[in-house]
Amino acid sequence: MPHYIKCDYCGAYQIQSQITKEHVMPQAYGGIVTIPVCEPCNQMRGISMTYPPFVQWKQREPALWASAQATAQMTRRQAKAKAAALRGSLAPPSGAAKKAKKAAKKKARRARAAAKKAKAAAKAAAKKAKKAAKKAKVNYGGIK
Ligand SMILES: [Zn+2]
Repeated sequence: MPHYIKCDYCGAYQIQSQITKEHVMPQAYGGIVTIPVCEPCNQMRGISMTYPPFVQWKQREPALWASAQATAQMTRRQAKAKAAALRGSLAPPSGAAKKAKKAAKKKARRARAAAKKAKAAAKAAAKKAKKAAKKAKVNYGGIK
């Protein structure tokens, strides 16, 4: 005799092979608490937080929902720590990273200063050229 399991969303009884593990807090959010739901319900809900049967389930199972949220937060933190550790293995150690960041900042500052200087020099040159042109006009203006 096949084993029947009730879908926690639609309430339909399904043979075990038709029942899937539904992450009430989606796996994408680090959810680990699962409930048995039928395949169509699982697919229809997706990661929706407003899917009516899911909303009804939340109201029916507040304690389980709270625990799903709590554990999801925990795993999200763990996931974050894991991601940070992974990044750490790819990037230079934090001390070197800090130094590199500081050096980059210094370089940018220097580049900005150089650009400012160049701009000022260009302005001065333009002024000088204008002055020279004026002088030239004064000297030879009438003769032309
Ligand atoms: Zn269902």
